[in-house]
Amino acid sequence: MKDPIVVLGAGQAGTLLALYLARRGYEVTLYEGRPDLRTNEVPAGRSINLALATRGIVPLVEVGLIDRVDAITIPMRGRMVHPRSPEGADGIVPDLQRYGSRPHEVIHSISRANLNALLLDAAEATGRVRIEFSAELASVDLDGSRLAFADGRAEPFGTLFGADGAGSRVRAALVDHGACQATTDRLDHRYKELTMPPSSDGGHQLDPHALHVWPRGGFMLIALANPAGDFTATLFAPDATFAELDAPDAVHRFFEAEFPDFAALVPDVADQFLANPTGALATMRATGWSHDGRVALVGDAAHAIVPFHGQGMNLAMESVRALDRYLGDHPEDPAAAFTAYEAERKPNAEAIADMALDNYVEMRAGVVDPAHVARRRLALELERRHPDHLSPRYNMVMFSTMPYAEARDRAAAQHEILCRGVAEPTLDVDALVAGLPPLPELDPLARPDTLSIA
Ligand code: FAD
Repeated sequence: MKDPIVVLGAGQAGTLLALYLARRGYEVTLYEGRPDLRTNEVPAGRSINLALATRGIVPLVEVGLIDRVDAITIPMRGRMVHPRSPEGADGIVPDLQRYGSRPHEVIHSISRANLNALLLDAAEATGRVRIEFSAELASVDLDGSRLAFADGRAEPFGTLFGADGAGSRVRAALVDHGACQATTDRLDHRYKELTMPPSSDGGHQLDPHALHVWPRGGFMLIALANPAGDFTATLFAPDATFAELDAPDAVHRFFEAEFPDFAALVPDVADQFLANPTGALATMRATGWSHDGRVALVGDAAHAIVPFHGQGMNLAMESVRALDRYLGDHPEDPAAAFTAYEAERKPNAEAIADMALDNYVEMRAGVVDPAHVARRRLALELERRHPDHLSPRYNMVMFSTMPYAEARDRAAAQHEILCRGVAEPTLDVDALVAGLPPLPELDPLARPDTLSIA
């Protein structure tokens, strides 16, 4: 790769990539538009905490950071479903639905800021990554190989990695140049983050080892624990619902009617709701992630998805690992590495983009749909009987490293069997499941015995 090697954007993707490049002996400059989050308060915006799963854990094992990550995560063993009324009069039973029975089938709540800080420290500790904060890219001159920053200065690049998130300016430059085509589909739902404070003794007010969900058909609330005793909750709802929640009374009425147990634990819910920003949700699909062996996109800049499977960061980190592998395979030919990287990752990014959209329906409505519940029960039973041939889709996405497209295709075949199995009780479903191709081996780096995190 040509020097100077520049990574633009110090989120999870950019910082992890800088770390991987440093491990290969490259000297890297990492530019980040915001101030250093290790020494400055982070403004409210993107999600405060994230669910880390196997595809994100594997790269962290590979770069030797898993023990430090482990120390700042909270394991979540299942989904805690909250009904509208404590008696479950709306048909939802308060219930912990475990994700799986294997030791590694656990997801991990982690603070975005703490994870980013840990990655920044690790990148700097290599001695090969120089990080410049408050360096906001304004535009890229692709032909002249120069970056123009918002403060007026210009810097050259030999190789440029665009890790500048869903609204990437590096991607915009590739689009303007005709190298990339990108489409963004905005969902007509938005999100709002709220904080549930710790209890008076500083502990968590709900079980911290579950992902809490309040499914309400057209919308839902979720909450993930933070180590300080608080929870970050997120309301996902249609634009029209947000438009109605424009005054304290309306917000109070809404939360007391829909989420009474949550409202009781968050007395200032209306103040928070009206003060906190409302976020938009979109899927960004791009073709043409690189140009001329000199520029490539990673993370949300290449593939941004909606957050309902908790996979955007996990996908980003898995893609970074793949990019590193291809750079290792083609050390003298970055164009070939970038082409192979996109060929492998794009179909998988497309697959998880679709599954993430599907999972919104499952989370907000599926858990109360009797047909869905019956299929899930059958899936768990069949998984118990045929652990090498069937795994629920959620588990293939969250707890394996099989390509996302394979998880999607296997899930479609399984779904057909489950639908038939529920409709025809005399059907020999065992024979059908035994006829499915065996599940692939778990990546050695994700083996439970290598992971203290599980
Ligand atoms: P980003 O984290 O967006 O980083 C991009 C970086 O580039 C930023 O630091 C930004 O400041 C910088 N930058 C941008 N433009 C410029 C510029 N012009 N100049 C200089 N710097 C610039 N994923 C999961 O895996 N699990 C979850 O549970 C999960 N929950 C989510 C919940 C919500 C509500 C949302 C919105 C997303 C969630 N995600 C989740 C997705 C996850 O946040 C993203 O996929 C992930 O953070 C992408 O990382 P990235 O490094 O590619 O981009």
